[in-house]
Amino acid sequence: MVDLNTIASLCKRRGFVYQSSEIYGGLGSVWDYGPLGVELKNNVKNLWWKSAVYERDDVEGLDASILMHPDVWRTSGHVAGFKDSWVDCKSCNKRFRYDEVKQKTCPECKGELTEPRTFNLMFKTFIGSVESEANEIYLRPETAQGIFVNFKNILASSRKKLPFGVAQIGKAFRNEVTTGNLTFRSREFEQMELEYFTYPEDSDKWFDYWVNERFQWYKKFGMNKKNIRLRKHAKEELAHYAKSCYDIEFLFPMGWLELEGIAHRADFDLKQHSEISGKSLAFYDEEKKKDIIPHVIEPSGGVDRTCLAFLIDAYKTEKVRGEKRVVLAFHKELAPVKVAVLPLLRNRPELVKLARAIYKDLRGDFKVTYDDTASIGRLYRRQDETGTLYCITVDVKSLEDKKVTVRDRDTMEQERISVDMVKKYMEGKLR
Ligand code: ATP
Repeated sequence: MVDLNTIASLCKRRGFVYQSSEIYGGLGSVWDYGPLGVELKNNVKNLWWKSAVYERDDVEGLDASILMHPDVWRTSGHVAGFKDSWVDCKSCNKRFRYDEVKQKTCPECKGELTEPRTFNLMFKTFIGSVESEANEIYLRPETAQGIFVNFKNILASSRKKLPFGVAQIGKAFRNEVTTGNLTFRSREFEQMELEYFTYPEDSDKWFDYWVNERFQWYKKFGMNKKNIRLRKHAKEELAHYAKSCYDIEFLFPMGWLELEGIAHRADFDLKQHSEISGKSLAFYDEEKKKDIIPHVIEPSGGVDRTCLAFLIDAYKTEKVRGEKRVVLAFHKELAPVKVAVLPLLRNRPELVKLARAIYKDLRGDFKVTYDDTASIGRLYRRQDETGTLYCITVDVKSLEDKKVTVRDRDTMEQERISVDMVKKYMEGKLR
């Protein structure tokens, strides 16, 4: 398995992930996605949205605001209970999450630890021009609550019947105590959450369904079966709202860690918001002629963790003719760049013209790049290292036979195809 430093250095060098505000010394555990990172991230989000919303007839989308009424967070239990405790080592000054240190001494240097200190993970700010306690609001620590408080709106405008779901992708913020490990635990991150509302009596069945559905999703997009597993939460581990919970875990270089949680939230959220807001969030069942508070199944995944896991999972090194080849063997739907057009000579105008024409013809349909800044060996290595699926080289012979060479990232096989056929060929491979 690749170590995290190798991934971090590749991410920075090749433009996947940079530390936020680096020129000012950086901001801890806040990250910016570079040109390739944003492509990977968009691919992850689009694939999730496609499977959660477009390919189903029982799920609608939502994009709620990051800022919400503070009562939302009082009602959800976040103001009182969304806390972490940490301890510091008095010798080496390292900080640890209290729930993660098993012994009474520092896991790294065996030094004495401080007493645990606790604080709320939500970021606070003010709404309006007066910085008073009355104007305090929070940056949302999860996207889910936006769905619960809009339950009635969505029901009225979409006329959905149980069971149905609402999907949302958006930013969330947590003032995490222990950080590090690249984007794994960031202070600003994105979640992909689905709240699936069911009849109470069917909720266990739907819980099993979503655990399986979400587990298969990662495998569908190429995640190695050996690197992913399901783990059921023990009773004592369950959050206050959860009846049952599974984590989908990935084998990160730091060990098996959560990629996504699927929780059976029963009727906790809708009931709670109904009670405190005084507005009923029940579903009126026309057939049974009564109000029902649906139960909720929540698959909640992290965009950033998923990107990191796919990056780690895709990383491969091999020896090719005595030389090391680094490849990000992404699934074709995840690869940030699908095709690279590589003219072999920069100083032959007819050749450059042909290469530019091929590039322009493809770029409206796929993410395509153009690179003529090195020798062909270097150009291939660059593209392999970022997971580009196909390289098209245009050489002097192309001017005579009107053919180009297409090289496959995984097999490294090369095929000579007619310039007129390039677009069709790529459509065949990539659709
Ligand atoms: P952890 O204990 O690992 O911080 P959590 O159990 O608090 O995670 P949830 O509240 O269940 O996480 O959030 C759902 C998903 O959101 C997680 O599975 C993860 O993918 C993502 N997530 C949560 N916190 C962070 C974070 N600080 N940085 C990046 N992703 C996060």
